Amino acid sequence: YEFIKKTSPTVGALIEKEYNRQKNNVELIASENYCSEAVLAACGSCLSWKYAEGYPYVRTSGNKGRYYGGTEFVDQLEEYCCDKWREVFKTDYHVNVQPHSGSQANFAGYKALLEPGDTILSLSLDNGGHLTHGSSVNFSGKLYDVHFYDVDEKGYIDMDDVRKKAHDLKPKLIMTGASAYSRIIDFKTFSEIAKEVGAYFMVDMAHIAGLVAAGEHPTPFGYADIVTTTTHKTLRGPRGGLVFGKQEFAKKIDSAVFPYSQGGPLEHIIAGKAVCAEEALKPEFKTYEHQVVVNCAALCDEFLKMGYKVVTGGTDNHVFLLDLSQFSFSGRDLQEACDAVGITLNKNAVPNDKRSPMQTSGVRIGTAPMTTRGFKEEDFRAVARRIDEVVKKLDKEKKEEK
Ligand code: PLP
Repeated sequence: YEFIKKTSPTVGALIEKEYNRQKNNVELIASENYCSEAVLAACGSCLSWKYAEGYPYVRTSGNKGRYYGGTEFVDQLEEYCCDKWREVFKTDYHVNVQPHSGSQANFAGYKALLEPGDTILSLSLDNGGHLTHGSSVNFSGKLYDVHFYDVDEKGYIDMDDVRKKAHDLKPKLIMTGASAYSRIIDFKTFSEIAKEVGAYFMVDMAHIAGLVAAGEHPTPFGYADIVTTTTHKTLRGPRGGLVFGKQEFAKKIDSAVFPYSQGGPLEHIIAGKAVCAEEALKPEFKTYEHQVVVNCAALCDEFLKMGYKVVTGGTDNHVFLLDLSQFSFSGRDLQEACDAVGITLNKNAVPNDKRSPMQTSGVRIGTAPMTTRGFKEEDFRAVARRIDEVVKKLDKEKKEEK
């Protein structure tokens, strides 16, 4: 930022402030992480200057190649990036590394399999799904006829409900994946149900992709027709998306990304994605992802010991939801009170939430970023006790207010 300040004091100073905020706060946002300096450097490299609309891999997808000259090196880079991601997930699926974000990846995934108006069976935002899984305010809810399966009374995805609704609806696509779900997702049973009703099966593994890569969560590869992800959450890479698909969908996936929904690929981000894939292939990455899960279990356990309610009663992955329904304050109140003491987390709806999405009765807590910064179980237990202090103070204040 010192360098940037020479050209723009305002931008440089804001980046400095944000850097210090990130450095000094305990970051518990489940969808964030700190990528390596190598990833950051690749993303800030000269590749940012290069246009390369199209694809390098004429051989695999039948695509026509690039629409620009001078792509010799970015061609090699993009092919290398694709190969590395296949290696990370031990898959022979086709992969498109161009989506600018997870939402773009999902847009392309749907486009490859569906026509507007087709029926999707999915997990709702309220129960842990993402906006792009069929929310009425998102393109997914507007373009497609989306119906939702439920979670059971404990908060687990209800596979009986998935089966029943799949048989009743006969959707063209069954979709799973989540932004706020703390348990293993049973991809095998999902794929069996999809087969029973003749539906396609798509998985958005954005949150758990790092765990999948490290063997800490079962893989969707081999089960799903299409798998999408972001690269910036548990994968700890640059902001961006990937779409994988069975080879029969390769051409459709590629044309859904470019030219249908994007223009020139961000080759600098693709370089960051390639560095991230190489990092994910190292033994240290497995150790990291394991620690993320162990830390999350410890943090969750500390809350449970103090008598808190947790959706599903625990966690199998990097995230869990504290259920605050019994308190006089909302998830938003706790988010703001935590902000004031340097703890960053986010409000989140809990299943059957009575409060509005802007208030919510829960908060979402994740361990991926602070594990990158070296936190171990005892550090996270201390964080739980600190949040408990904030809760007690907030509860007292709200009661006094009343
Ligand atoms: N899919 C899931 C499960 C997510 O949690 C998110 C973002 O949080 C996305 C997709 C969208 O990613 P992006 O913000 O890159 O569009």
